[in-house]
Amino acid sequence: MVSALIHGNEICGAIALDQLLSSSFAPDRGSLIAVFANVAAFSRFDTTQPYASRFIDEDMNRLWSREILDSTRQSVELARARELRPFAEAADFLLDLHSTSLPAPAMLLCGSHNKGRLLAAKMGYPFHVVADEGHSSGVRLRDFGDFNNGSTTKSSVLVECGQHFDSESPTIALKTIAAFLFACGMLDQDSEQFPRPASSTEQRLIEVSHAVTIQSDCFSFSGEFQCFEVIPKAGTRIAQDGTHDVVTPYDNCVLVMPARQPHKGQTAVRLGRYVPDTKD
Ligand SMILES: [Zn+2]
Repeated sequence: MVSALIHGNEICGAIALDQLLSSSFAPDRGSLIAVFANVAAFSRFDTTQPYASRFIDEDMNRLWSREILDSTRQSVELARARELRPFAEAADFLLDLHSTSLPAPAMLLCGSHNKGRLLAAKMGYPFHVVADEGHSSGVRLRDFGDFNNGSTTKSSVLVECGQHFDSESPTIALKTIAAFLFACGMLDQDSEQFPRPASSTEQRLIEVSHAVTIQSDCFSFSGEFQCFEVIPKAGTRIAQDGTHDVVTPYDNCVLVMPARQPHKGQTAVRLGRYVPDTKD
């Protein structure tokens, strides 16, 4: 399963998926489930308010727990998630296509289980891989059900293809789809349908240890952080949340995807470290 538009304004994945479906592509084996998820939000896309069409009622990428899907709660996004649920349950592998609000290098988010890391390594593209557990505000599609169960083989990755609306992002999305199809065995190694993306000989893996959830209505970062800044010293203040200082928990702390507009209850930034440093 390859899904785009879980966030209605993250259009690069939809452009790439549309290109794939408009081409003569046919998998060498298996079946591809192609998903345009939040079409309702996307259909409201307005170039004068490009961030407004992320969702209509609520973030569709925080709804993927059985408790919420089975509940009686209603929203535009929940109705659509319930339609998509059987497809997500049927998929052996999932690639979920996204982009970021601030400029950031492309990265795969592979979850916290080893199987996600193995899938990311098999893809070999893009260069940065982030192992994280998601958000306290709700479950992502990539963590839905058995995708987040270490004892099954169902595997998923989420890709951030750079910043929203960056003209390079659809190309990155299409290359990531190709890497995913090769890694899942849906394309033969010698397939000429797609050039294999030049894989980085060694990807860089960041292990996320903390997701900083915003506690107050008054949150601000201490600097103009974008992504992957390394803060050398433990205890360095990186943000203020109400009266509380947010400080780095260890030396050489890597900041992953700071939020453009921090809101209470949401993730402000994830904190992690490059894997070779974890033994320090
Ligand atoms: Zn997104």
